[in-house]
Amino acid sequence: MKPDVLVIGGGNAALCAALMAREAGASVLLLEAAPKEWRGGNSVHTRNLRCMHEEPQDVLVETYPEEEYWQDLLKVTGGQTDEKLARLVIRASSSCRPWMRKHGVHFQPSLSGTLSLSRTNAFFMGGGKALVNAYYRSAEQMGVQIRYESPVERLEIVDGQFRAAYVKGERIEARACVLACGGFESNRAWLREVWGQNSEGEWPADNFLIRGTRYNQGILIKDLQAQGADMIGDPTQSHCVAIDARAPLYDGGITTRLDCVSLGVVLNRHGLRFYDEGEDFWPKRYAIWGRLVALQSGQIAHCVIDSKAIGRFMPPVFPGLKADTLPELAQKIGLPVEPFMQSINAYNAACRVGNFDHTVLDDCHTEGITPAKTHWARPIDIGPFYAFSLRPGITFTYLGMKTDETTAVRFAGVASNNLFVAGEMMAGNVLGKGYTAGVGMSIGTAFGRIAGTGAAQAAFKLKNLEQQRAAA
Ligand SMILES: Cc1cc2nc3c(=O)[nH]c(=O)nc-3n(C[C@H](O)[C@H](O)[C@H](O)COP(=O)(O)OP(=O)(O)OC[C@H]3O[C@@H](n4cnc5c(N)ncnc54)[C@H](O)[C@@H]3O)c2cc1C
Repeated sequence: MKPDVLVIGGGNAALCAALMAREAGASVLLLEAAPKEWRGGNSVHTRNLRCMHEEPQDVLVETYPEEEYWQDLLKVTGGQTDEKLARLVIRASSSCRPWMRKHGVHFQPSLSGTLSLSRTNAFFMGGGKALVNAYYRSAEQMGVQIRYESPVERLEIVDGQFRAAYVKGERIEARACVLACGGFESNRAWLREVWGQNSEGEWPADNFLIRGTRYNQGILIKDLQAQGADMIGDPTQSHCVAIDARAPLYDGGITTRLDCVSLGVVLNRHGLRFYDEGEDFWPKRYAIWGRLVALQSGQIAHCVIDSKAIGRFMPPVFPGLKADTLPELAQKIGLPVEPFMQSINAYNAACRVGNFDHTVLDDCHTEGITPAKTHWARPIDIGPFYAFSLRPGITFTYLGMKTDETTAVRFAGVASNNLFVAGEMMAGNVLGKGYTAGVGMSIGTAFGRIAGTGAAQAAFKLKNLEQQRAAA
């Protein structure tokens, strides 16, 4: 039987939409591209959502008022955001947690090593995987039909109205549809096209790693674009961080993060430094280092630290390369020893060590070298020495569908009456560029819930029309 609402995608935004549509009384079918064991998209990798609160709220300390949240968003996006939609997300983030709890999501205070987010971000007990599992459990109990291994290939849209979705050639009709199938970050061919070739003839995107799911191929972003949907976001923009080069191609998640850059120096494959490693606290800089590494030859870089740094950063999953002398370390990494030693010696000689303190922007800096290291600069001189290689790790892309507070997909400025969009597929409306931790889940939760309710209402209207026609 034709469902009222078809939800395409199986992550946070899709599940929020499916649950809300079902709560509104609609019959719901959810199509997830992944097999059951890989369900949940990038949402399984998350740990928290950013929440506005005017007073301390259960796991959140102090306050995080609307205006401060808005200013944070304004700063990271450089003004490339829709204020109305951004404020909608911010306000919704203050009231969504009781609903989330109702569907089995639990929260916990932030742990140490979580980038000092205890005031602004509510952490999911058990992480995003537990959140996704709880939502699926609740959806099943409420009677949402779920089909795994169902990648939608294209939509049938007539005059801006959704008619059907195609999965492996099968035509699936519904009265309304919510699109919530992520960005195109897992589509390596598309990333290659967008990044193009560099001056050395390399295709940088071939060396990118994908931090999350392999299933966000952007197939429906391409389809909707071809069908004339209004789009938003620059295809070259993405959230891209520097991660452990040994991470798997997909799904390495947060465990592949490396937090030692600000304690050492970073060299490219020619053995040269290329950026200020101590510009700011690592949580504020790790997202620019993805692009910095992407711009280096071979899209690789190597962070070198000495024994003084050990114990001062969250230990990575894989141990670093270790050597008793620096030339030996260069050989182990596979870097040319001479320029490597010249870079380290020049850096060591330029260090002006004051009061080292990794918890503040301290006064340890370099003088007379380019690039400078402006904080936490101490000579790399006490063995054993360690090296960690870095690659660009794409979190998600920003290209998606333009929408408004109803989440309706638009065609030449006209809102569809039964096609809605949520999550990463429309996050570009709020995040033109940049990112602040936890806002991805705030966007998906706010717009997923609106899209689900909107789709249910649209379906009921169409159902009434169908009934009137049948009775006439
Ligand atoms: C390592 C990592 C850590 C992160 N940590 C955080 C965090 O702590 N807090 C935060 O706010 N954000 C975090 N993010 C970002 C966050 O994951 C996203 O903003 C959010 O999960 C997006 O939700 P979504 O539902 O839009 O997409 P996703 O969760 O990616 O879901 C997309 C779904 O669509 C399915 N799909 C794709 N194409 C099709 C198709 N054609 N047909 C059917 N199904 C399809 C996929 O299989 C998937 O289930 C993190 C991301 C990563 C990679």
